[in-house]
Amino acid sequence: MKYISTRGNAPVLSFEEAMLTGLARDGGLYLPESIPTLTADDIKALHGVSYEEAAFRIMRPFIGDAFTDDEFRTIIARTYAGFGHAARAPLKQLDAGHFLLELFHGPTLAFKDFAMQLIGQLFEASLKRSGDRVCIVGATSGDTGSAAIEAFRGLDKVDVFILYPHGRVSEVQRRQMTTPVEDNVHAIALDGDFDACQARVKDMFNDFEFRDAVGLAGVNSINWARVLAQVVYYFTAAVSLGAPERKVSFTVPTGNFGDIFAGYIAKRMGLPIDWLIVATNQNDILHRCLTTSEYKPDGVIPSISPSMDIQVSSNFERALYYAYDQDGAAVAQLMDELKAGGFSVSQGALEALRESFASGRCDEDETRATILETWNAAGELLCPHSAVGVKVAEEMRDAATPMITLATAHPAKFPAAVEKASGQHPPLPDRMADLYERSERVTRVENDLAAIETLIKDRIPN
Ligand SMILES: *Cc1c(COP(=O)(O)O)cnc(C)c1O
Repeated sequence: MKYISTRGNAPVLSFEEAMLTGLARDGGLYLPESIPTLTADDIKALHGVSYEEAAFRIMRPFIGDAFTDDEFRTIIARTYAGFGHAARAPLKQLDAGHFLLELFHGPTLAFKDFAMQLIGQLFEASLKRSGDRVCIVGATSGDTGSAAIEAFRGLDKVDVFILYPHGRVSEVQRRQMTTPVEDNVHAIALDGDFDACQARVKDMFNDFEFRDAVGLAGVNSINWARVLAQVVYYFTAAVSLGAPERKVSFTVPTGNFGDIFAGYIAKRMGLPIDWLIVATNQNDILHRCLTTSEYKPDGVIPSISPSMDIQVSSNFERALYYAYDQDGAAVAQLMDELKAGGFSVSQGALEALRESFASGRCDEDETRATILETWNAAGELLCPHSAVGVKVAEEMRDAATPMITLATAHPAKFPAAVEKASGQHPPLPDRMADLYERSERVTRVENDLAAIETLIKDRIPN
């Protein structure tokens, strides 16, 4: 299996190389040259198998000869061993025809653990073999960073630096990043918003001298291996509700478009998905783009669903690549226009996007009201991100097709917002109940590329 860049101008890589690299050298994102499909019988055969077995069957065709079947099964078993629920991604019912896919039973209580725990195991297996050392640098609006630090803490051949926007992550998110004691993990509080963090990480990848000197590797949501891990639960959820005989729709609380893009891959692999609904908070650039064709960032407004406070949605580039018929030059052109302020999706590409994606927006008051209403109606305490999804799903769903809304984080990750909305205090699961007592370790840094690069060079062992 070969991987190519969305901008058509970077080396073609194997799965392992694409995973270790993250961002392509032409600034693009890696995608498989062709997408393997599962037959209806393959999908039927997923009924009743464990999450791990489903993960093996769904991901195996994408990894080529990077790992033997036995190695890959071991990697998957380790990946999900630390989850707090036997089903890994259990499905709950909210109402007739509306289901909640709980993706928050991993070690940092957000869906990012599904992919990040896998990446940790994949990196460990791969670096053990090669003897190389890598330096992982990532930007986070909160959940990616905690998931990455949790996945890589204490691993031998890896240093991890996570940039988060100072003062804009929840206390639980911050503590999950700043309390691990292993010295290969570093939480960096940047003076700027998430887009600034993400921009500096991109700058570091585009500084080839620095990139090669420190052995830079990326695990942000642009990393193909992360998207791949997320494909699995679309299958397991749909199969639980009767796929492949019955179609389902998904509503996905969306920021960087990684999670919902995994749903799009599942659809292209043959899973009968009716709609993939992009749910945004007040930072609604994706909703505006899908309704008007204009993609014009205009500044992030902080919200109570901070992991979706994004204006530059990196993985959207992958969807554009398919919408533009896999024309890398056209995508590169759009991304150049984005640097100059924004772009407009062509009529043909917009129609292609609208064949799979619909969208909706949920403001702050609606988010709070949905937390309260869902608590009252179904006894489910939603995190603000999941509430954005549930609200948009309620607006968009039809009686004929089951709707599955992705619950992307545990309510205890955002206790202040949840309590204010519902009057209920969401307790942390027992296994992390002492989080507030652990001491913190963090470095604050200005929004300046040179300063960040110096800090990283100083910290890594030579
Ligand atoms: C990351 C995150 C999202 C957004 O997911 P994307 O893949 O970036 O679209 C939504 N909710 C939570 C809780 C998250 O951590």
